[in-house]
Amino acid sequence: MSSQPVTFQAPVTPIIPTAWPVDDVLALFNLPFNELMFRAQTVHRENFDPTEVELATLLSIKTGGCPEDCGYCPQAARYDTGVTAQKILPLEEVLTAAREAKAHGATRFCMGAAWREPKDRDLEKVEEMVREVKAMGLETCATLGMLGEGQAEKLKNAGLDYYNHNLDTAPEFYSNVISTRDYQNRIDTLGRVRGAGIKVCCGGIVGMGESRLQRAGLIAQLCNMDPYPESVPVNNLVQVEGTPLHGTEAIDPLEFVRTVAVARITMPKARVRLSAGRREMGEAIQALCFVAGANSIFYGDKLLTTGNPEAMADQDLLEKLGMHTRSTAIDARCDVTPS
Ligand code: SF4
Repeated sequence: MSSQPVTFQAPVTPIIPTAWPVDDVLALFNLPFNELMFRAQTVHRENFDPTEVELATLLSIKTGGCPEDCGYCPQAARYDTGVTAQKILPLEEVLTAAREAKAHGATRFCMGAAWREPKDRDLEKVEEMVREVKAMGLETCATLGMLGEGQAEKLKNAGLDYYNHNLDTAPEFYSNVISTRDYQNRIDTLGRVRGAGIKVCCGGIVGMGESRLQRAGLIAQLCNMDPYPESVPVNNLVQVEGTPLHGTEAIDPLEFVRTVAVARITMPKARVRLSAGRREMGEAIQALCFVAGANSIFYGDKLLTTGNPEAMADQDLLEKLGMHTRSTAIDARCDVTPS
């Protein structure tokens, strides 16, 4: 008997803000695991095709040499991690990578640069990249650090769909990780991105030594944004030798799955993306993350400077799980990645 493919029409409704006190978010984390998964899967099915996953590809267009001190990041100039600082890539190299990504099924192409904030002359180069990548029919995303007045508007005019700027962690834990910019700097950049009409990609990193309450605090920050981000990367710390967070006790994999589930429940219409740390998770935990509501992954063999599962392994896993990738059509609905 041949089975008919299930067609799914996501309701086209705007993202509306939610009101989640930290205690309520924590209560979700504290649910029995099966109950949490059931709730997350229920919310997921109300908003998305549960068998669909979005593929996004990330290219580092300017690697290393960053003046910031993010404790997890191998691209910070001050840490001896073996990352060699490079200048911004030539346009043609970026376009070649975008063409390859599209050929492999990626629907969104993210360009990441290790800057505190882009200088105007650098921004002009990124604008050109965005224009050309967009013209290929790919959604565009950039992560360039903090944005100053007027810079978000320039990116919007070039055709940028998403800007990634992560909150990283809860405000209470933030100073354990970064000292060269504060939480408010991040909120300000996110406000500029929203103000320019660019969709927001904003998430965080878990496994940096934070408590469950602090993980709940991060999710509460994200889901109480008005509106909450269209795209929410959930990263598991990749421990890189030479960075201050190397040697941190790893998070229990099931706690990571819980974090994904809580993100799904509190931000029902967001793309929840499995980002850094996926290679270390193995197939079973990734599968649980999909059940918990993750529906986007970074695809390819490099995630800025840390490894990502090889493309073939991803295809194998999705096939085993009976999942399919999102069509290449750009849709109005809707990435650890620095910065
Ligand atoms: S995360 Fe971004 S801002 Fe922080 S050190 Fe790395 S590249 Fe720089």
